[in-house]
Amino acid sequence: MPTLFEKIVAGEIPANIVHQDDRVTAFRDISPQAPVHVLIIPNKPIPTVNDVSEDDERTLGHMFVVARDIAKQEGIAENGFRLIVNCNQHGGQVVYHLHMHLVGGRALGPMLAGEKHG
Ligand code: AMP
Repeated sequence: MPTLFEKIVAGEIPANIVHQDDRVTAFRDISPQAPVHVLIIPNKPIPTVNDVSEDDERTLGHMFVVARDIAKQEGIAENGFRLIVNCNQHGGQVVYHLHMHLVGGRALGPMLAGEKHG
């Protein structure tokens, strides 16, 4: 079964795409947590960070280059932003097609909710 995000890559379901090339696709999150909230995904359906391989290094590195460019386009590079990749249940991953959240446009506050350890 193709993931929801594979269908977005293939153009089978609509998304607000801000960038697409032969390796990655970036589109606006349907439920934005900040003024700018874009998801950057490999076109290849890697389920989680646990599933990445050395063969994926070029694509994964390219996701950072695309994040840099989108942050600039969106006008949030100077003030700053956050990149988040959730993995599995404790990471809060909901869609099992690896994705990088690019969030910004406001001060984002502490990195994690909840109690401190140590
Ligand atoms: P995660 O919890 O890291 O798996 O994040 C999944 C993200 O995908 C959430 O922020 C959702 O709002 C977002 N999302 C789910 N469905 C869509 C969709 N059809 N288009 C854009 N973003 C989506």
